[in-house]
Formats: sequence, C-alpha cells, structure tokens
Amino acid sequence: MSRFVANEHGIKVLAMPPPYKAWFALCNDPDYSTAESWDEVHHYIWEELKLPFGDSFFISNWNQQLPDQVNLTEHPHRIAAHSHDAIHTWGDFALSGKHRFTREDALSALELLRAHDIRPLVWTDHSNFIGNLMHRTSNKILPRVRDSSGHEYINDVYTMDLVKAAGIRYVWDGSLTKGVIGQDRPVGRMEWYRQSTRKYSRRTRAMIAIADKLSAPFSEFKNSSIFNYGKSCNRQYAPVRFPDGSHVYSFSRYGSWGLGDIDGLAKAIAKPVLRELSRNEGTMVLYTHLGKRNKKGADRSVHIPNATKKALMGLSDAYLSKEINISSTSTLLDYLVLRDNLKIEKSAVHFRADGIRYENLVRQDLDGHMFGLSCNCSDLKIYCDGIQVEDTEILQQDGGLLLRFPSHETPAKGGHQCP
Ligand SMILES: [Zn+2]
Repeated sequence: MSRFVANEHGIKVLAMPPPYKAWFALCNDPDYSTAESWDEVHHYIWEELKLPFGDSFFISNWNQQLPDQVNLTEHPHRIAAHSHDAIHTWGDFALSGKHRFTREDALSALELLRAHDIRPLVWTDHSNFIGNLMHRTSNKILPRVRDSSGHEYINDVYTMDLVKAAGIRYVWDGSLTKGVIGQDRPVGRMEWYRQSTRKYSRRTRAMIAIADKLSAPFSEFKNSSIFNYGKSCNRQYAPVRFPDGSHVYSFSRYGSWGLGDIDGLAKAIAKPVLRELSRNEGTMVLYTHLGKRNKKGADRSVHIPNATKKALMGLSDAYLSKEINISSTSTLLDYLVLRDNLKIEKSAVHFRADGIRYENLVRQDLDGHMFGLSCNCSDLKIYCDGIQVEDTEILQQDGGLLLRFPSHETPAKGGHQCP
C-alpha cells in the first residue's frame, strides 16, 4: 500500500508520484573537482548512465591551495555541459590569501550568473565561508549591525538580498540527517532514537526513547541535544525566516561527513540503503563531493573507484525499474512544495502558490511533474492558481489517477536549468 499525505473529500494524494516508491536526489558540493575528475564524473553519471541529477558549482575560485577547481568563470563550457541547479555559495573564498570576501564579490558573481542566464534555485554553504547562511556561520544576515556599544555599521558580507535576487529558494540547513533513511515521512520515537543515537547500545537507545515519551510534558526542561524527537524532525524541507525578514525553504541532506566523497558514495548508496529507502517510501537528498577522493585513493589512476561505479549502476537500475525516482534537488523540492500546497475539492484539484518558492503559479511551473490521486473520478478538473489547466494528461493507474503535466518548452541544450 503506497503512502498518502493528504486526504480531502475522499481523495487522497500519494506521497510519491506513481509508480515510484521513493525519490532520490544527489546534492553534490564541487570542492576539489579538477577538470580531469570533473570530466570523468560527467562522462560516467551524465553521459553513460544518463542519471538526471542536477549539479552544483563554484562561480569563481579564490582558493590558493586548490587553484585548479572547476568554476564558472574559468570553465563555462563545463557548467553548461549538464544541468546545474545549485551554487556552492558565491565562489570558493576559503584559503583565499589576502582576498577577503565582501558584498562586491557577490555583486560580481550575480552579474556573471545573469550573463550566463543561470538562475540557481539551491544554495549549499561551503566550509567556514564568512557569507554562509546556515552552516558554521557567524554572519548576522542583516545589512546593518550594531556593536555592543550601540554603534551601527554596514555589514559588508550581507548578501541575502542578492541570494534571493539570484533565484535561490532552497538553502541547505547546514547539518546532516541523523541516519534515518527516507525523509518526508513520519517516524516513531523508537525508529528516531534507534538511528539518531547510534553511539549507544540498542538497549540504551530504547531507554532514551521511552524516557523521552514519559517526560513529554516536561519538554522545556529536557536536554535537547539528546531528546530531539519531534513531529517534524524528519521533514525534508521547512520554511525559514532570516533576521533580515527574508523567507526561503531550508532542506536537509542525508549522509555522513566521513562518506561525503567519491569513495564513500559506494557505501552511502549501497543496495541495502536503496532497498530501505524504497521500503520506507521517503525522499533522500544525498550529501556528497563527487570531485573529492578519500585519502586512501589519492594515488589511484582513475577518479571513480569500481565500487562507486557499481553502486551508481544499482541506483540506475532502481530508477529504470521505476522503484526510485531520480531528479535534481530543486525538482524534488519543487514537487514536495507543489504537493503540499494542493487543495482538493470534490471534483477539482487546485495547485496553489505557496508564497516562498512560487509567488504565483503558472502552468509552466508544473512542467514535467506527476501526481498520484486515489480517486477514479472521470470529470476531474485541474486548476493552477485559479485558472483551469486544459492539457493535463489524466491516466488510470493502480486503482487511481496519475496527473501528468507535459513539458512544453524545448529542453535547454546542455545545463544550467534544472530538468
Ligand atoms: Zn564545500
């Protein structure tokens, strides 16, 4: 029985578009990618396996210890070669010597994005970059800040307005999920603590879960670093408001810091993990660095180890057999936002703007998306922000309906936009 997320007027919406049980997106950070490793990864993932992932890039590279990293300024043809929907901040300003990042750099980066007609939807923080939004940041996300004596000064690393102007609507929340496989689904206390407190014995983990339940009425007195279970703890995304008043969505990434490279990828997406993802009918946005190797593989003649190739092939099989859907991070998050803002009436389905990702919703925003409904109604009408949509493909499938919104735009050559 597939999982439903909404049930109004007797019509239920499937969590995942059928026939898929789960949804996987690879959310790569471009650190360490050189032209050679980038070409090998591009060839294997995007050309040979043809996996429809989105990718992330540096706009410029100021890192003096990694001067060969691929970036938009020096390698525009590479960034155009497959879909990129994410930027890894405004560039690599880590270990940048005398060059200190300021808002001027972000303005130049924004200009370059516009010159290349790139409108990224996703932002992932990088290392301890001073302009980070949610990860290891001391950035106040305010255009003007006050010191302890009350003097006000301009915050020259404030760029949130430019982040929004660039098109960003999804910001990585800066942490990794606690081991639960499959987000966007409710988890019970036992499962949560079994996965999130792995350093303890099985018995201790069960006791933490029981103690958490028994002490629920006294939640304000509990140590939140241990007792961190809550109804929303396994969400894939959540609205977030920054101190300057900006609203975006934050999203979580699954993985572990130690497996976040091309070697660790083999284990991160091993068959048992994918099987559990499918069984749990959840989403996974995987944290990784495709261009980075584990230290043990530093001298290898090829960049992608065989074990990782095999694991990627397993992922490709799950996709081709329609078990696990695959897309860019932004396509996955867009789907969840559209699904969660659906309103169902007796014989009408209304797609509605959410106010953060979509200020208003037009038919093109549904391009390429599919939604599963439990009903069999023959006279179902589809609306997008109140306007009837005439070209929805409505197909009978497994006792329900599949709504499919064909894409009218000819796909852009190469990359930039999410698929
Ligand atoms: Zn990084």
